[in-house]
Order: sequence, then C-alpha cells, then structure tokens
Amino acid sequence: MAIAPRCVGPRDATRMYGVDGFDDEADARDYDPWEHAAGLGIPIIFRDDLPDPAMVACYSHVHRAMFVRTGLLTSVERCAIAHEIVHFEHGDLGAGAHEEDRADRLAARRLIRPRRLRELATVTDDPAVVALELGVTERTMRTYLRTHCDTDTGRVKSGPAIRQAGTIAS
Ligand SMILES: [Zn+2]
Repeated sequence: MAIAPRCVGPRDATRMYGVDGFDDEADARDYDPWEHAAGLGIPIIFRDDLPDPAMVACYSHVHRAMFVRTGLLTSVERCAIAHEIVHFEHGDLGAGAHEEDRADRLAARRLIRPRRLRELATVTDDPAVVALELGVTERTMRTYLRTHCDTDTGRVKSGPAIRQAGTIAS
C-alpha cells in the first residue's frame, strides 16, 4: 500500500470548473480531480488487490478513502478519481446502478467543459479524438454526450455539434 506521492500545494485561489460551480468563464481553471480529492481530504491509495480484477478504482465509505489501481493510463486515472470523488461526496455504499450513474454523470460534467469542446470543434467532430484531446476516457465522453447532448441534433448544450457517441468503440 502506498499513499500517492503527488504533491499539492496551497489551494490556487482561481475558481476551478466543476468545484466552484459550472460557470464556464475563461478565468476558471479546468477541473483537476487530484487537487479536488486533496482539497476534500480524501486519501488516494494505490494498490492492485481491488475486489474485482476488472475494477480500476473503488471508494470505501468505511475508510473514507479511494483505492486506485497502479499503472493506469492518465486519462483512466483522472476519470476514475473524478468518479470516486462523487461517491465520497454522497457517502455512497455501493447501493447500485443509480449511484454509478450519478458518479459517471457528475464526473463527466466536471471533466468536460463546453468551452473546450468549442475550441476542439474547429479541429474535429470525432468524439474519440475529442476524448483524447481532453484527457478523458471514451466511456466518460460517451456519458457526457448521452447526458448533455441533444440526441436529434448532436449538439452539446452550450457547445458544438459532435458526432453521436455510437461512433466510439467500446
Ligand atoms: Zn462507482
């Protein structure tokens, strides 16, 4: 068991998107799940003996800690920590699909800003490329498009049109 060596200094006074609201102004910083976890005082414990071999991270409300598999891609780790933070905030005890769905939706909303989508819209409308550029997993991108995207027009609310999530490989 090892505590994350990441060093987080005094909290930056600048607003962070997704923590200090969802006001998507230019002066807000992008969401940083590691800093958010540190700010909330949640220990991130890296270990490989998680309850399920397919699991990349989990939250234990008994320990008020999250456990994250080692050696993950940065995008996978970012999304996992953002997801586990939502479980922490709600004191989730693994009660089922609604908790997972809520954690996925809020993590995606924090990690993906309409402002960044607009910037990338000049480059690509391919959601897989957008996910790569944003440093999020394709699963998180799919969640965002499913929950924040008009299914008829493909237009993200207050953002650009992006091809439907079905084009992303599972
Ligand atoms: Zn979960």
